[in-house]
Amino acid sequence: MYAKVIIEYPVKSLNKMFIYKIPKYLETKIEVGMKVYVPFNHKEVFGIVIDIVKEIDVEYEIKDIIRIENPELVLSKELLDIGKYLADSTLCNLITAYQTMLPSSLKIKKQTSNYDLYDEFISINDISLAKEYINRYPNRKKQIIVLERLMNETINKKEINSNILKALKENNLIKIARVKKYRINIDNKNIIKKELTQEQSIVFNQVEFNKYNTYLLYGITGSGKTEVYIKWIEKVINMGKTAIMLVPEIGLTTQIAIRFYEAFGNDVAILHSSLSQGERYDEYIKIMQGKVKIVVGTRSAIFAPLKDIGIIIIDEEDSNSYKQDNTPKYHAREIAKYRCNYNNIPLVLGSATPSLESKARADKKVYNLLKLTTRVGKAQIPKIYLVNMEDEIKKRNTIFSDLLQEKIKEKLLKKEQIILLLNRRGFATFITCSNCGYTYKCPNCDITLTYHKTTNNLICHYCGYQIKKASRCPKCQEDSLNYYGLGTEKLEEKIKELYPEIRVIRMDQDTTRNKGMHEKIIKEFKENKYDLLLGTQMISKGLDFPKVSLVGVINADTTLNIPDYRSSENTFALLNQVAGRAGRSDILGEVVIQTYNPDHFCLKCVLDNDYDSFYLQEMAFRKKLKYPPYYYLVSLKVIGKEYEKTLENAKKVKNYLVNNLNKETIVLGPTTAAVLKCKNEYRMQIIIKYKYDDKLIKVLKELDNLFTSIKDSYLDIDLSPLQI
Ligand code: ADP
Ligand code: ZN
Repeated sequence: MYAKVIIEYPVKSLNKMFIYKIPKYLETKIEVGMKVYVPFNHKEVFGIVIDIVKEIDVEYEIKDIIRIENPELVLSKELLDIGKYLADSTLCNLITAYQTMLPSSLKIKKQTSNYDLYDEFISINDISLAKEYINRYPNRKKQIIVLERLMNETINKKEINSNILKALKENNLIKIARVKKYRINIDNKNIIKKELTQEQSIVFNQVEFNKYNTYLLYGITGSGKTEVYIKWIEKVINMGKTAIMLVPEIGLTTQIAIRFYEAFGNDVAILHSSLSQGERYDEYIKIMQGKVKIVVGTRSAIFAPLKDIGIIIIDEEDSNSYKQDNTPKYHAREIAKYRCNYNNIPLVLGSATPSLESKARADKKVYNLLKLTTRVGKAQIPKIYLVNMEDEIKKRNTIFSDLLQEKIKEKLLKKEQIILLLNRRGFATFITCSNCGYTYKCPNCDITLTYHKTTNNLICHYCGYQIKKASRCPKCQEDSLNYYGLGTEKLEEKIKELYPEIRVIRMDQDTTRNKGMHEKIIKEFKENKYDLLLGTQMISKGLDFPKVSLVGVINADTTLNIPDYRSSENTFALLNQVAGRAGRSDILGEVVIQTYNPDHFCLKCVLDNDYDSFYLQEMAFRKKLKYPPYYYLVSLKVIGKEYEKTLENAKKVKNYLVNNLNKETIVLGPTTAAVLKCKNEYRMQIIIKYKYDDKLIKVLKELDNLFTSIKDSYLDIDLSPLQI
């Protein structure tokens, strides 16, 4: 027997199957989808078995497989097929696709250490023997206590003193069993079930199971989407099937996971990046061995090795975090479609602000539209105020408008809670010398460095470069360095200056770097240990705090002014979401949005809470400028160390595309990318806009292959860019 294996090296020239002989002693053990160790070019490497065949027809000498690695890991046919789809649709190597699908503890290019943990449990060997022993040695009190307990239960070995244990063992009274232990173990006995409201029930009943269909659940914030998700999942579980539920941010995973634990107890596994390697390994193994029925997780959880999936749900489907920015540049929604089609099951996309793509598909009846239009219970839509900061500047209010200050004071008095959004971390976004004009810039990238006061560091948010801030200007040595631009760190300082008594907690990348911090901040805020939560967009989604009655947006323009075709869509979603954090119980919520562009249509639609109107206006703009969802985009970046060479190669790419793609396809560029220089490399961008192009994938593959022989630059292709 022979195995066709792909090996660990993610390079184009090795992106094919190699044949190995299966030694006799492995013939009954080996399966397609297993990880193996094989000889390759005088070395030994890892690989994955893609196929097993009886006979082959080759002349050359065939080597033996050395061993099976991680026998507990077997990629199912479905997962192997998903990998092929992933590789084909994003133009990555097959091995890269499988690497992406596996948790780091089980990656292919890795000798895995043993992550399994065990607990040891003691139980009684023979009750009559134990009784006899107790009668014979009534003085051995401590041993007797243990024996009597053991007559009713098993005991974790850790609980028993080692001398007692030794004595009991020597007398053959007990036995010890090893049981696999999971790092995350929820033992929830009080399953909470809620009755659906009438509106929720109607939506619930519209999904057809055992059939591939995509549903767009467009439900305003607080309309109880999560409750409906839970009911759908309950239904498929009752049908004997399993479910995947994707959520966007890390902080959100925890919140949703808690609600899922409440509803399903130990049937839930969670998968997200802030788990430790061991936890992730455990959860993965639980899923693979069928110990859980539901997976809740972020983007890569779409690759969870569940069998017999009955439904996939993507919450906040418009979130950009479902798109992976590095290779393979996949969108979880597309993988979900592939999986649902494969299993012939429904896919549900949920959001309060559906992506334009999804809404347009629903309008064309490609997706089925489901709607939730009212908040559950007494909760009402919050009242929104737009404040023109130009007027405030005249009153010397640079950070807080009069209205926001007044509202904060009012809520503090009423002991209600406040959320402030500022989508920029750090203290100051740049530091400039007022004497010589020197500005701290990243030596590797084309941007200014952000000042972080807590650490006194200037940090590049693109490449991570950092240096200590000098007390004087590094160029002219004058004491005239000035801070510009507001970040969350400074906002925190300013808030404390204005309201000395206030209890503030900040949530951004810097305060959540350590494991468990997201959860801790959310938990403590929910427990009312703080009056005010401030942070970046991390705080905008999904969080459910009943006591929050005020949301303030310090500067709505930070996202609006990003030069990208989706900036309005992103801003509308962000503001609508963050506004949705207010007034989720019986207290009325209020939202103050500060901006220098109060007339911008996007902000007006936020003010009126009018997604439909936003959608129509934005669609008209997209149509006029030939952007998605009217056209598909491809972004190609030619990246290299030398400016001239890179530009020259980019021009060649452009010509190649123009000459080989369909005539109707538009090829733009090359232009310098949004950030021209990043990590010491120049980046030239070419954009393709197309409606239909049967040659596209073929041409891009050829181009990609051509670049393997070019030394001075490389090509980066994104077939579904969310940003250009
Ligand atoms: P969404 O996900 O649409 O923002 P949630 O599912 O978080 O909304 O629901 C908002 C609040 O309403 C939550 O506190 C939730 O527990 C509550 N809720 C939702 N549906 C019901 C229901 N049918 N009965 C009681 N409470 C509900
Ligand atoms: Zn940098």
